[in-house]
Amino acid sequence: MLYKTHVTVTYALALPLLMSTDSLFIGNVVALGIGSVFPDIDHPRSYIGRRLQGVSHIVGKIFGHRGLAHSIVGIFFFLYLSRFILFHLQLPIEWGDWFILGYISHMVEDSFSKTGVAWLQPIYNKRIQFGFKRIFYTTGKFTETVIFLISCGGLVYQLFYF
Ligand SMILES: [Zn+2]
Repeated sequence: MLYKTHVTVTYALALPLLMSTDSLFIGNVVALGIGSVFPDIDHPRSYIGRRLQGVSHIVGKIFGHRGLAHSIVGIFFFLYLSRFILFHLQLPIEWGDWFILGYISHMVEDSFSKTGVAWLQPIYNKRIQFGFKRIFYTTGKFTETVIFLISCGGLVYQLFYF
C-alpha cells in the first residue's frame, strides 16, 4: 500500500475514535499519521524510508521489507522506543498511543494486500493474509486506488457530517 493510502485509511478509521475520546488535537493527529507510515521504515524507497535514508537502509538490510518492523515484535519495540523518547523529551505520552495505533493500523492494512504480513515472526515466518486470499488489493494498482478514494470519501463525509 502506498503511503498516502495508509494515511487516508488510518485517518478515516481513527477519526471516530479521536472525536469520541476528545483527542482531536494536532499532536495526536500528527502522531497517528506518522505511525500509519512508519513500519515501512524497513524499505529505503518508501515514503518514510526516503526521509530517513540512513536508518531505512540499515533496518532494511538487517530485517528486510515486511520483516520484523512488520510484526508484533516491531509493535512492542516501537511502542517502548516511542514512549522512551517522549518521556525523555517531556512530550505528551499520549502521542505514543496514537503513533502505535497508526502503526497497528498500517499492519492491518498491509495484511489485506495480496502477500499479507508475517505478524508472528521470528517464531512463525509465514505471511498471514486477512482476506483469506480472496479479498485483497495489489499495491499501486486499481484496487488500491478504489480503497484510496473510498477512504477519502469517508474522511470528507465524517468531517462534514459529524
Ligand atoms: Zn508496510
